[in-house]
Amino acid sequence: MCAQAKAPTHSVCLNHPDRGATTRCTTCFKPICGECVVRSHGEDFCSEQCKTNYEATRPGVEEFQEREARRRSARRRRRLLLLVILVVGGYFAYRYLKANPDTMQELKQKAEEVKQKADQLTK
Ligand SMILES: [Zn+2]
Ligand SMILES: [Zn+2]
Repeated sequence: MCAQAKAPTHSVCLNHPDRGATTRCTTCFKPICGECVVRSHGEDFCSEQCKTNYEATRPGVEEFQEREARRRSARRRRRLLLLVILVVGGYFAYRYLKANPDTMQELKQKAEEVKQKADQLTK
């Protein structure tokens, strides 16, 4: 699927001018035919040299992906923590208001005032 997507339309092989190229080198993007291709890591290369060059840059790519994955899991943990805080905080706020009905009444009054002010503003 990758080879097909990468297949150039009007190129010929670098080493065989009489043959159409079927793919391109992952490292240098030179067109190459099926016979010249050096396959490695699911990628196509025109030569051992290009394959080696690709392998030399590969650890960097993997390290980057690993860092990305770590960042993602850290973000997930933060979101979970926030959820826990919200739930626990909400629970205690509920308990507090249950134990202090006056506060509840006050809050309701405040909310009513705010609502009235908002109504006046929109009028
Ligand atoms: Zn190459
Ligand atoms: Zn060739």
